[in-house]
Parts: sequence; structure tokens; C-alpha cells
Amino acid sequence: MRVLKKDYWKRFPQWADVSKWDWEDWRWQIRNRIKSLSQLEKILGTDLSTVKKVEKVFRTGTTPYYLSLVSDISDMNNPILKQIIPSCQEIDPQIQSKGSLDPFKEEVMSPVKGLTHRYPDRVLFRVTTFCSVYCRHCMRKRIFLEEERANRYEEYIRMIEYIRNNPTIKEVLISGGDPLTLPNKKLEFILEHLSRIEHVEIIRIGTRELVVNPYRFFDDGLLELLDRYDKLWIVTHFNHPDEVTDVVKKAVRNILSTGTPVLNQTVLLKGINDDPYIIEDLMRNLLQVKIKPYYLFYCDPTKGVMHFRTEIKKGVEILEHLRGRVSGMGIPVYAVDLPGGLGKVPLNPDYIAEETEEYIVFRNYQGKTVKIEKPNFDIINNYHNKGLEDLCL
Ligand SMILES: *Cc1c(COP(=O)(O)O)cnc(C)c1O
Ligand code: SF4
Repeated sequence: MRVLKKDYWKRFPQWADVSKWDWEDWRWQIRNRIKSLSQLEKILGTDLSTVKKVEKVFRTGTTPYYLSLVSDISDMNNPILKQIIPSCQEIDPQIQSKGSLDPFKEEVMSPVKGLTHRYPDRVLFRVTTFCSVYCRHCMRKRIFLEEERANRYEEYIRMIEYIRNNPTIKEVLISGGDPLTLPNKKLEFILEHLSRIEHVEIIRIGTRELVVNPYRFFDDGLLELLDRYDKLWIVTHFNHPDEVTDVVKKAVRNILSTGTPVLNQTVLLKGINDDPYIIEDLMRNLLQVKIKPYYLFYCDPTKGVMHFRTEIKKGVEILEHLRGRVSGMGIPVYAVDLPGGLGKVPLNPDYIAEETEEYIVFRNYQGKTVKIEKPNFDIINNYHNKGLEDLCL
């Protein structure tokens, strides 16, 4: 975990006069976000004119907090800068030609605008097209092309109505954009209605605010909501160990104190975290601040994101590296989301070296092999089929 220095933002001349009071206010962070490359150029002191044409297609943005995590602002290889500064590859027709703006048919498998119903028991509930940071690798990059707007109450009501009328739905995934950029009042409206539906057992909020604006979770109004609605889980999106700070740790503490578990999804990104040691570090850091790694995703074939993709096998290699080195609690499920909305598929290293009728040979994390005899079911089943009284006959 990274411990930030006292008044760490003051090393940036632009924020030298910003008080702790303002800096730690999530609304200040969003109000003062950096919305254009021209603005970013001034802070970094770097010429970004060659990538400005990308911004006209896919918008840019970051919170001051997230930008302040960049240790060396002249290093264009910094993993945080790479997530916020566009690359010309985003609009290179050759690189992006095989990508799709909606690879998972979210807009097609949509019974009501804003909802995606793919699995029988879970529904995706999109509440806004706004994010306080526009991550270059976003799998829902089509929202960058729409205007920034939270849905209207009437739209939420229609979405909620659909869920109320479909008792197979046990879980609602609130996503966006970033749902936690909504004001508490709007959030309360959604949570109140969803949690009143009896067959909804779990409400999952997918948010990156914990990464890019952790002060969101210093807001008493939000914590009160997390406390009140007890079906809630939070799933967040850390991609690099540099993102896991002591401010995040405090934020997670606040969330956990409301009885809300916190899980993480990481996306495997070329040039940012496609390295077993970086992911190892990230997983350790997440556990330290009490976030449970849930998924490691293969980067989706979204138009504008194709240049971030790695070999599919890379994720399997990373899992092999983690097993035996990191607490089992820190090992995520590596998954590929199948195009066409066919669902997520987990990929695992193969630990079975050989299998016959009589035995299985296992390979452990060090590559050592061990043979385990299979049970003899001919005899065992005989016993299992008898009642307790004549077990020893
Ligand atoms: C990812 C996803 C889910 C949730 O899948 P989990 O494996 O439960 O995390 C649900 N609906 C849609 C449309 C999804 O893309
Ligand atoms: S916060 Fe999430 S939805 Fe918003 S741009 Fe980043 S990845 Fe996409």
C-alpha cells in the first residue's frame, strides 16, 4: 500500500493553494476535474497536441486526486497516465477494425432502455453515462460518444418496474458510467425501490470512485445509505498497485463499517499491468486494504480499446505465478467475456498432468507431480447404499 505524504497534492503548482477541506471533498474533486487535454498539458508541462484528435472521438477526463497519484509526470509510461491520456491507437482504423462498440450486445439484450438481461438471475442496471475519470480501456467506451447524463427518474422507474415483474431476477448490478457520481438523493431513490423488491437478494454497485475519487466514501450521506440498505455489495476496479493508497484504505474501512463487502475486478492491460509481478503486487495491496480480488478480465474486444489486448494465455500465466506465492484469498478468477453476450468463461491453469481409470497425476505450483489413487467406488458404494444399522456387515 502506498502512503501519501501530508498535503501530497501541493507539489502541483495548480493545487498548491487547495485546502485539505476542499481536496478531500468528493464534490470538489468532480467539479474540478480535468476535462480536456489542453488543461492536462498545463499541469503536466507536456505537449499533447498529437493526441488531441482522439479527444474529439472519445472524451477524456480525470479527477485531480487520480492525476496526483502519478509520481513522475514527465514519464509517459506511467501506468496511471496511460489510463487517462489517449493514444492515437484508439482511432487507428487498422488496429480497431475488428473491435465492436458493443461486443456483448448489451444494448440488444435489453428489455428496457438501460437494462441488460443476459443471465436469468442477474440484470445489469445502467444509471448514467458520466464518469469522473474516462479510462482509456473502458469496455463500455460507446458511452464516451454519448452526452454526459444521468438517466431521468422516469427511466429508472421503467427499469425498476421490469425487475419487479421478473421474479427470476435475484441480483441487480448497478453500473454506468459510474453510479457513485450520482448525488445521494438519486442513489437513494434507486436503492430504496430496488431493495423493496423481495426477490432481489443482492444489489451490486460497480464503481471506480474508490480508485479515482476515494473521498466519495468520506461522505456521511453515502455511508448512511450503504448502512441502511443491507443487500449491497461494492465491486471496484483497481488495475495497478500505484492506485492502492492509504486514502483508499480509509475509504474501505468506512465502507466495511456499513456492513458492505468490497470486491475488485482488474482488467489485464498491455503495457500497464500485463506482468505477473505487477499483478502479484496489486493483489497483495488489495488484501492489505481488505478488498477481495474477484475477477481478472481479459481485455474486451471493444472498438477503441483493441490496442490494450494481450495474449489470452497471459492471464493463465499470471494465475500460475500467483498460486503458491500469494494468499489464496488474493487469487482472482481469470475470465474472458464471450462476444455476442454469451457470458463469462473462467480460464484456469491445468494442474492435472495425467489421468487414467485408476489414478490422477497432479502438478503443484512448483511443477512437482504427485499421483493420487482414485477411490474404489465398487466397494464404497455398497456401504453408502446401506442404512446405518448394517454399516459394518
Ligand atoms: C458480467 C455480467 C454479469 C455478472 O456476472 P458475474 O459473473 O456474476 O460477476 C451480469 N450481467 C451482465 C450483462 C454481465 O456482463
Ligand atoms: S469508470 Fe468504469 S465506466 Fe467509467 S470510463 Fe472507467 S471503466 Fe469505463
